Amino acid sequence: MHIGFLGLGNMGGPMAANLIKAGHQLSVFDLSQAAIDSVVALGATAFTSPQALAQAAPEVLITMLPAAAHVKSVYLGNDGLLAQLAKATHLIDCSTIDPHSAREVAKAAQAAGHSMIDAPVSGGTTGAAAGTLTFMVGGSQAEFDFVQPILSAMGKNIVHCGDSGNGQVAKVANNMLLGISMIGVAEAMALGTALGMDAKVLAGIINTSSGRCWSSEINNPYPDVLENAPASRGYSGGFGSDLMLKDLGLATEAARLSKQPVMLGAAAQQLYQAFSLQGHGRLDFSAIIKLYLKE
Ligand code: NAD
Repeated sequence: MHIGFLGLGNMGGPMAANLIKAGHQLSVFDLSQAAIDSVVALGATAFTSPQALAQAAPEVLITMLPAAAHVKSVYLGNDGLLAQLAKATHLIDCSTIDPHSAREVAKAAQAAGHSMIDAPVSGGTTGAAAGTLTFMVGGSQAEFDFVQPILSAMGKNIVHCGDSGNGQVAKVANNMLLGISMIGVAEAMALGTALGMDAKVLAGIINTSSGRCWSSEINNPYPDVLENAPASRGYSGGFGSDLMLKDLGLATEAARLSKQPVMLGAAAQQLYQAFSLQGHGRLDFSAIIKLYLKE
């Protein structure tokens, strides 16, 4: 299939590579020449602007951009993809953005004669490279059925979450819980060790007791509890604190717009905001435990 791909960054680059591996013909654009070069080397065709790519008339167009502002600027307006695409196109936005913006862009796409789904992912850069991402899809059943084989080249779990925007709803709800649970585990590990417990023994108890969760078991924030966790290598790699801050901001903003209380989500957002201000935004989000430990 002829697929257009915009946004070839840490996630989009390896996702595009997996589509090429699966035999698709890729037309690509990114603001970064280095990002373009890396997928052209694998067989993709580069375009000099989103408009030029749109004129090449791909059947499917995928975007993997940083935030809602980028998604809106790429799709909407006279120069936007919706106006420039040469024919009706299946649009897939994989960026993590707020559900309200996702619905706004999908509605505009429909009005312009295209079909659009939101399909944010979880699984990080490792999952993107391995082709094992989870896709949370919002859109019609017919569109879900159409995109499923394409998304399967990049992911392992492709889940239909309901109508337009619901993929983003699933993503922000999950990541809000992840941020809250990480802070909870950090607080418990810091309390237990301050009161004299060995960190590994405490983690072992939590992971066989009712406090167990992904943040305690797979990405424990206490240094040297898990050999391969970011906490055991100075919090490098993993999921950056600033990306968690972004997702918590999406959750609290979506909550504000729907007048839904998220007391713990808002507290988590503020903690990550303070942490970012201290200059820790690039560290894995488990580094939030630094707020609780003596240097
Ligand atoms: P990134 O910053 O590495 O990549 C974004 C790419 O988009 C860059 O190459 C940039 O040049 C390009 N870009 C920006 N504006 C553009 C435009 N107008 N036209 C074309 N290209 C443009 O970001 P990433 O880590 O790949 O994340 C992408 C999305 O995936 C984000 O919404 C993020 O929240 C989400 N996400 C990231 C991870 C992760 O672990 N990195 C995990 C899950 C979801």
